[in-house]
Formats: sequence, structure tokens, C-alpha cells
Amino acid sequence: MSLPPLVEPAAELTVDEVRRYSRHLIIPDVGMAGQKRLKNAKVLCVGAGGLGSPALMYLAAAGVGTLGIVDFDVVDESNLQRQIIHGQSDVGRLKAESAAATVREINPLVNVIIHNVALTNDNVMDIFSGYDLIVDGTDNFATRYMVNDAAVLLGKPYVWGSIYRFDGQASVFWAEHGPCYRCLYPEPPPPGMVPSCAEGGVLGVLCASIGSIQVNEAIKVLTGIGDPLVGRLMIYDALEMKYRDVKVRKDPECPLCGKNPSITELIDYEAFCGTISDEAQQAAAGSTITAAELRSMQERGDDIYLIDVREQNEYEIVNIPGAVLIPKGEFLNGSALEGLPQDKRIVLHCKSGARSAEVLAVLKNAGFSDAVHVGGGVLSWVKTVDPSLPTY
Ligand SMILES: [Zn+2]
Repeated sequence: MSLPPLVEPAAELTVDEVRRYSRHLIIPDVGMAGQKRLKNAKVLCVGAGGLGSPALMYLAAAGVGTLGIVDFDVVDESNLQRQIIHGQSDVGRLKAESAAATVREINPLVNVIIHNVALTNDNVMDIFSGYDLIVDGTDNFATRYMVNDAAVLLGKPYVWGSIYRFDGQASVFWAEHGPCYRCLYPEPPPPGMVPSCAEGGVLGVLCASIGSIQVNEAIKVLTGIGDPLVGRLMIYDALEMKYRDVKVRKDPECPLCGKNPSITELIDYEAFCGTISDEAQQAAAGSTITAAELRSMQERGDDIYLIDVREQNEYEIVNIPGAVLIPKGEFLNGSALEGLPQDKRIVLHCKSGARSAEVLAVLKNAGFSDAVHVGGGVLSWVKTVDPSLPTY
């Protein structure tokens, strides 16, 4: 599907610009008109990290006239393995400032705007409204959903990418012409189910593979050339060295971009994504089982002790057969610990996996090293094991 150019061309290119961009100008599809559109374009990059590094550098080199950088973090030595926009001497410096300096060095004709802030519900609409297109290089689900919702509410396209170990994904979400991120991923994964790059690692060069796809798509959307990744998800496997793309359809029931949207303003993204503490996240990494795995344990007759850490009223609405109710508070104040069996493997669950991850951290600290929790909690149990049960 080809789409009209997003940006009107600038009035003219200077002699310097013609010299600098000559290898673009002689490509028939780009030409003078395409380069003038890039000059007039305002692109915002969310995050100056793994994906933001190559994205900002190539967007700058390509001659995008205005580049915004949102990042509140500082450069750490562990970033340098992949965040190539920063160098050794930038360690300790604000990422947005370090990135801006590199952009200016690559192309002094670019107008760089630094947003040295954390993107929040209070500033995201205001910041996004100053740009034509967003490049999303964030690494957490709460920000991803916020970026998506703000872009859809403002009617702006954005280029999304994600990376983990050897696997990358990219797409262009533009609700006017195709699906949004919520059409593809209606719900965030249960807390503790998907490790971040900080926990699981990422091959440095994968950032360039996916970041360059994002820039490629940004240029196509801005200038109206080619067939952008609207309604398609690009999946890259660096170990197999395979790219494949799958169709993503717009969900007519999407709560954000569907026919009868129920989300008409920004929501509480931390609550939506069930964000949990670092300690809980660490406890859950490698100690999270699925509802189906719990079911198999029970069918095999494994010697487990299943604990529901929700509250009494929640337990009464729906519960997993065999679960003993011990609310989270009794773990936090320590009273539940002495009654726990030492000879059985403890399996925790709650509604969605957030509270059970917090309790898991308490148990691990208390020496129950083989304890696990159920990712997605009772909601996942109902969905995958017994859909006849009620949810709340
Ligand atoms: Zn949607």
C-alpha cells in the first residue's frame, strides 16, 4: 500500500545542501522533491538508547530538518556496547545532550531540539504535537502504550521497533491508514513474563538492524515513496538471518482506534501494565510459570503448595482449585512465613501476576529458592485452562 507524502516540500535547497545530499538527489524516487520534504520534516525520537542511537544518526545524515530527542537518562558504561551515538567521554552525561552533540557533528544543518524529560501523561501530547512523525525506541511497555495512544489521539504516524537478544520487530502504526499497537498487542504481557534487555541482554548490532528499518520507514512515510510497514509486522531473527513480515489487521473492536473506542484520552499506563518493583521483577525472572504449566503440575501430582495471595473477596469470585488463600499483606508483615511447608515447592498466584511477583521476592529472600509464580495469574488460568470460570 503506497501512501501520500506526510510532509510538504521546503521551498528550496541551498548549494551546501545540494552538495551534501547529492546521493539522495540522484535517486529518482527521492530526488529534489523528496529531499525538500525531508528538510521540512520534524521527527521526534523517543529514547536515545539502543534503537534511538542509529535512528538519530541516520535521520540526521539523511537531512531531516528538525530532530527532537526525548531522554532523561545519563550515559552509562554498559550502554556503549550498542548505543553508538554516545562515546567513552560521554559517560555520566545526559543522553539527550550527548546525542544532540553527535547529531550536530554528523549534520550541522539539522535543527536539534532536546527534551531532557521523562515522557509522561502530562507532557506527551504537548511534545508530540510539535512533530510530524515519532520514532519509538522505548524499552518498556508502559511507555510503549503511552506513545501509541498519544500518537493515535493526535492522528500522527509512528515507527515502532523492539529488540531482545537476537530478535527484533518493527512496524509503522498509523491509525488513519492501518492498525495501531493495541490492534497487534491488545494487552501488555503479564509482569515478569517478558524480560527486558537489562535482564536478558541484547546483541549490540541488532539495534542497528532494527533502528535502520525504522529510519527507512520514516523516510518512506515522510516522502511518500515505496510501500511502508503499515499493517505489517517485520520480524527479524539474527541467528537464523531471516526477515519475515506478517500482516497485521486493524481490529474493528480496538478500544483506541476501532469503531466504538472506549479509550478517548490517556490512561494510567503504570497500572495498565501492572508495573512491579525491580526486586519483584528480578525474583520473577526465570521463576515464572504459565497457567498451563501449573495445570500440568497438578495433573502429574507434583508435590506443590499453591498459594493465592489475593484478598478474600477476590478469592470468592473465582479461584484455582487447590489454592490456599494467604493475602499478600501476611507475607509483607512476615506472619505467613512460619506456617509454610518446607518440603513442598511453593507456587504463588494472584490476579495478573504483579502481586505474586512481589510475594515471590519476599519468599526468595526468606530462602524459598525454588518458589515460582504464575505469570498472568488467575486471569491467565481462566483464559487458557477453564474459560467457563468468571473473571473480574
Ligand atoms: Zn488499534
